[in-house]
Amino acid sequence: MRRDYFESDILKSIRSEKLDDTLSLAREFSLQYMNEIHDRNVYPQAEDIQNLDYFHEDLADQPEKTEAILEILNRYGSAGTVAQTGGRYFGFVNGGILPASLGAKWLGDTWDQNAALYVISPVASKLEVVCEKWTKDVLNLPAETGIGFVGGSSTATLCGLTAGRNYLLNNLGYDASKQGLFNAPEINVVVGEAAHSTVFKALSIIGLGGERVIRVPCDDQGRMKVDELPEIDHKTLIILQAGNVNTGAFDDFESICSLANEKKAWVHVDGAFGLWALASSKMEHATKGLQLADSWSTDGHKTLNAPYDNGLILCRHKDVLVEAMHMTGSYIIYSEHRDGMLFTPEMSRRARSIELWATFKSLGKRGVAELVDELHEKAKYFADIVSNEGLDVLNDVVFNQVLIHFRDDIKTEELIKRVQTSGVFWAGGASWLGKKVMRISVCSYKTSYEDIEISAKEIIRITKEIGS
Ligand SMILES: *Cc1c(COP(=O)(O)O)cnc(C)c1O
Repeated sequence: MRRDYFESDILKSIRSEKLDDTLSLAREFSLQYMNEIHDRNVYPQAEDIQNLDYFHEDLADQPEKTEAILEILNRYGSAGTVAQTGGRYFGFVNGGILPASLGAKWLGDTWDQNAALYVISPVASKLEVVCEKWTKDVLNLPAETGIGFVGGSSTATLCGLTAGRNYLLNNLGYDASKQGLFNAPEINVVVGEAAHSTVFKALSIIGLGGERVIRVPCDDQGRMKVDELPEIDHKTLIILQAGNVNTGAFDDFESICSLANEKKAWVHVDGAFGLWALASSKMEHATKGLQLADSWSTDGHKTLNAPYDNGLILCRHKDVLVEAMHMTGSYIIYSEHRDGMLFTPEMSRRARSIELWATFKSLGKRGVAELVDELHEKAKYFADIVSNEGLDVLNDVVFNQVLIHFRDDIKTEELIKRVQTSGVFWAGGASWLGKKVMRISVCSYKTSYEDIEISAKEIIRITKEIGS
């Protein structure tokens, strides 16, 4: 009778494959990649990028063998990667990946868990509970804080601002989750003029308008000028930052959060890479008052060196976050165990808590603090070397960011271009205070003092080549 039902030859053959061979090959290619990471160009060569065209093909009708798939990926894909798991990638604000985090991710990928509900994956649920507790512990955040595990800070900010919007409107007797914004009372959104683009994106998605904001002027480090704040009241959503994406600067949380708390405003902090500074007592000058906010967004995949797709939304008012993310009724029913989807916009999700847990476990509390301290020290070292050679460092190096300017905009752009094709290290460009800058972001545990020296020397060599 079974013969009457369809069975795919393709799937039959895939079912008979030996996973042993597949994973061994993946392991072999991965180790090869990591063993060469220090000697290869940090950015793919033009030829490697050209070779990525190999992937441009129509999907064949016939299946490909698993071994061949991995070989293609290794040959063409690997060469087209940016070597950010080495020590000399300083572009954007990225991060490295700790060995334990990588190993845990491999194992977790084999499990392929769905972190939506406890009943779908008890282990994912348990590790979310633990990661929530450890994160609060490491960052010294209030015990009542609830945390959702999302893909990154963009989503986390979206969640935090939605929670803030609903909270303020609820206090005005209006339920935005149920009624939408059509007849909602107006609330004011206050952002610094140096806010990250993802803040405006989130505001536009949640109906508050990316441009209908009060922009507060900032000082030369990108910090909101406190004496230029508009009137703050219970209808105000304030967005601050812990770590300006260019300068790394931190807003004056103590002044602004105290005022906001007193007036019952909501403060969200974009702490994509800077929130982890709370882990270090040496960073207290920058983080003072940061715990007084209502919600915070951060990434595990930047300065903490967890793998990608690791964002966290932290909210002091746990129920407000859950209510905003969980549209099933007027009150929440928490089950006996943690159901991760209550805290996030998504339902089915990767169990990212697996590698986040491994990251924390690998570093320990002291390790997180020392990671923060090292990134800071190495950024200062980088800045010291280049400024001793006569280049301008345009920011106060308060954390891991260094903005370098060489003579004028044209020369700085030339410097960036030559750095990017050198293969020695990689850094991006940005504009700061109307000047072109090369932005160095020290984000990886892998970066050694030697890597800093090699990279800084390359800058000096190129500037001599360009001449004055
Ligand atoms: C990277 C970054 C973001 C966006 O985070 P994603 O994880 O890329 O979504 C937001 N704000 C700041 C300051 C950032 O550095």
